[in-house]
Amino acid sequence: MADEKKYDVVIVGGGPGGLCAGLYTARANRKVVCLEMYLPGGQIALTGDVEDYPGFEQISGSELAMKFAEHARKFGLEIEMEQVEEVYCDGDDRVVRCASGNIYRAKAIILSTGGSPVKLGVPGEEEYSGKGVSYCAICDGAFFKDRVIAVIGGGDAAVEEGAFLTKFASRVIIIHRRDQLRAQKIIQQRAFDNDKIEFVWDTVVESINGDDQRVTDLALKNVKTGETSTLEVGAVFPYLGFRPRSDITREAIKKDQGGYILTDQNMETSIKGVYACGDVRAQLVRQITNAVGDGTTAAVAAEKYMEELEDKAAQRA
Ligand code: NAP
Repeated sequence: MADEKKYDVVIVGGGPGGLCAGLYTARANRKVVCLEMYLPGGQIALTGDVEDYPGFEQISGSELAMKFAEHARKFGLEIEMEQVEEVYCDGDDRVVRCASGNIYRAKAIILSTGGSPVKLGVPGEEEYSGKGVSYCAICDGAFFKDRVIAVIGGGDAAVEEGAFLTKFASRVIIIHRRDQLRAQKIIQQRAFDNDKIEFVWDTVVESINGDDQRVTDLALKNVKTGETSTLEVGAVFPYLGFRPRSDITREAIKKDQGGYILTDQNMETSIKGVYACGDVRAQLVRQITNAVGDGTTAAVAAEKYMEELEDKAAQRA
């Protein structure tokens, strides 16, 4: 049954930024809940190995996510599985409405909604989603043991997840629309040194083809020569970046051209009492390290904001 619940802070999204904000808020003795659609961890829960989070030379994304969640829960963070539909202001209250019908009222809200994968937008992508088209190597890689797997994109995610997929695939073919990768040099070098990874440069996917069961091949086009070709594959993993989930506020919120939420240095958005952290926020770098930094700042700034609200309420009383 739908319910209305009161908290000091509601965090929307349980990625590293949100969980870290939850840890700090809970440690400040605030009543705080983190609402997450899936499992806590956000993108990292779907990441193979993480090796750029200080203190952990190598840890699986899902294990790190679990550690974040356990740590924050230990200090009192509540984590609820909820799909948030809307965030809005009601006087001094900041309100979250969920698909379940539940309403969460709070003094402050921290948006840590991350993003969702960018789609290729070619014929066959939707039709074969779950039948050889996947956006999550760690979830689906093992289904394609000893098969040829194509990865599309040239960023950190494409190259790292491509390397992860070599654990299962006979070959991983990374198809990139340019002749230079965007990924960090260390990640690139590791891929160049991996015998199971091949690169197809200056090439885009025109369609994903298959039979009634699964993906069988990709239609490719070289953007420099115009030459077309067919590549037989067992699966295709597009890693084209992601779109921020920044459209849940009823009130207009300031964003950059890419739809990322703009904040001040305290992570406060253009809506008073609403903060943003992690991948949904406009910033140069999208790493776990800066998401947790954002989460920390958002939590501390929200605490100051709530103290001011409480002082004002006390003066009025
Ligand atoms: P990204 O850095 O935006 O890279 C997306 C890649 O997809 C680019 O190479 C881009 O090509 C290509 N692309 C985009 N649209 C395309 C299209 N329609 N057709 C063909 N190719 C297309 O995205 P990401 O790799 O998901 O990374 C997102 C953020 O997370 C980054 O800030 C990244 O540093 C971070 N991240 C970090 C790690 C790590 O540090 N271990 C791991 C994963 C992600 P162009 O290069 O030509 O634009």
